[in-house]
Amino acid sequence: MKNRRIIPLLVYLVVLIAVFSWANQLFSKNVSSVPYSTVVQLVKAGHVKAFVVEGTTIHMELNTPINGKTTLSAVLADPEAFLQELKPSLDEQLASGVLESYHVIPPKAFSPYELIGPLLIVGLILLLAWVMVVGRANNSNPLNNFGRARTVLGVPDGKKVTFADVAGADEEKQELQEVVDFLRNPEKFTAIGARIPHGMLLVGPPGTGKTMLARAVAGEADVRFLSISGSDFVEMYVGVGASRVRDLFDQAKKVAPAIIFIDEIDAVGRKRGSGLGGGHDEKEQTLNQLLVEMDGFSRTEGVIVLAATNRPDILDPALLRPGRFDRQIHVGRPDVKGREEILKVHAKDKKLDASVDLKTVARSTAGFTGADLSNLLNEAAILAARDSRPVLNMEDLNEALMKITAGPAKKSRVQTRKDLRETAIHEAGHAVAMYFLPTHDPVRHITIIPRGQSLGATWYLPADDSANLTRNQMYEQIVSLLGGRVAEALFLGDISVGASNDIDRATKLARDMVARYGMCEKLGTVSYLGGGEVFIGRDYQTTKSYSEKVAGTIDDEVKTLIDGAYAHCKQILEDHSDKLNRVVEFLLDKESMSGEQFRALMEGRTVEEASATSLFDGFGEDKRDT
Ligand code: ADP
Ligand code: MG
Ligand code: ZN
Repeated sequence: MKNRRIIPLLVYLVVLIAVFSWANQLFSKNVSSVPYSTVVQLVKAGHVKAFVVEGTTIHMELNTPINGKTTLSAVLADPEAFLQELKPSLDEQLASGVLESYHVIPPKAFSPYELIGPLLIVGLILLLAWVMVVGRANNSNPLNNFGRARTVLGVPDGKKVTFADVAGADEEKQELQEVVDFLRNPEKFTAIGARIPHGMLLVGPPGTGKTMLARAVAGEADVRFLSISGSDFVEMYVGVGASRVRDLFDQAKKVAPAIIFIDEIDAVGRKRGSGLGGGHDEKEQTLNQLLVEMDGFSRTEGVIVLAATNRPDILDPALLRPGRFDRQIHVGRPDVKGREEILKVHAKDKKLDASVDLKTVARSTAGFTGADLSNLLNEAAILAARDSRPVLNMEDLNEALMKITAGPAKKSRVQTRKDLRETAIHEAGHAVAMYFLPTHDPVRHITIIPRGQSLGATWYLPADDSANLTRNQMYEQIVSLLGGRVAEALFLGDISVGASNDIDRATKLARDMVARYGMCEKLGTVSYLGGGEVFIGRDYQTTKSYSEKVAGTIDDEVKTLIDGAYAHCKQILEDHSDKLNRVVEFLLDKESMSGEQFRALMEGRTVEEASATSLFDGFGEDKRDT
């Protein structure tokens, strides 16, 4: 990545050298490598009929062919000395007629063509050096744009974004309204000496609308929007990032009032002096320049810097100091009301069937970001379009949701009846365990149609990572995660790798319970995993802040917890093996089962009357809103 720009230059250089040496070969006479002593011998022995010395090359015509050749050429180190040495012999041979003639042509006049190649190479090297040295020192140079900020002036696609386009996010908008007011009317604030923050940091998971909000602030205030991504700063030449920062701020001051938006600021604002890896100095220089620029402009200049990140914890503390990004705005995942509003915004340009109830969709998509919801509607529209239907219906949304959460269905995949049966038992194990766990979210959909990486799936209310989970809920999640494996062990007599993802997740949950959330008695209410994170290579490594002894106890406790959950799960599935079997039979028959059908079966009602619509059956409320 770093060498991407230098590669074309190198290729150019190699081609040039090749062309040059080829031309050189073409122009130079083909000189054989007869040694000097041989030449002297040949002449002395009278084998040479005539010769010409041209510069340092001797061309000889022979009396008798040598190796089938009648002419020979050789290079003479010192032609003068050669002629001097042979003068007596030559005169003699000329007189006797053995040697017909010889000529000495003075060294060829200097040909300018010979210099073209070397000159080109030298010139090229100079150019390269110039680009590298001058390019980083002086960005006003018209021949390079390395140091220029790759900014987007105004609104990129020409469409003005306003707060009205950002659905939900009412609190975020309220906080940003202050910035809008300032940009619209800075005098009002400066007149009474009010301090407006220089920089604001939008913090939140990807896809929650941070970029959109920043653009909306510019749109609302009707000011220029200069946007750059943190990764744009990370360039091959040392110093380019820093000069880009300078350039960005210069541009902003020229067009003020304006908003500078630095997306993904963590790419450049990572804590200095931490972690390993290249490009380190470059990033530090860029970050230092950013700090200098943020301190350097006064509040009256009408430039406000917004930045976005999903990792505020890894930012250099200097960035967060007063006068810099001293205000953080948390842009969270939308709640059920927010989701409904976002869905409405994105459904505007789509034709929806009367069956589509966005409220229900919103309820079934806990944890989804704005980008996820936009994607969901888009996938559904694609499904409708594929069937040449002008309006999209609830089934499309249902299928789109499954596709997004578990990958596209792979109906063409060949599966034997035995494969299907194994999958059905595995999934039924999850579902039945969930049903008999009091705090567990209800089952919404079970399928043995392979999707993405998995052979089957059991859906429940999508896990919401911001929800406050209790110890019991976490424990019961572990139990239900083990359901697949336990069912395999109980009813197949063998276990498969199909449960590896379940086991990973169960183990992680157990580890978190024990070592992060202080939920085990032996270790007490101490967090061992909450420590700092250090960037090593491409991963964040959690620094360990506990002894080997504690590490051993953590492992023991995790195992005890999982073993207990396994036994619990086994008990449930053994007690209800008849029900589990009925679920398996249903799945083998119909491939999928809705939450309604599942509950009807569990409660001994007739399955036929239950709705087969899954996921959006309206069952289950978003916990955070009730
Ligand atoms: P982020 O910068 O936080 O990763 P973006 O601002 O790039 O997120 O949002 C990505 C897309 O998600 C937007 O283009 C928009 O379509 C959609 N989106 C996100 N949040 C919202 C919202 N609150 N209202 C409407 N659309 C949203
Ligand atoms: Mg973004
Ligand atoms: Zn499973």
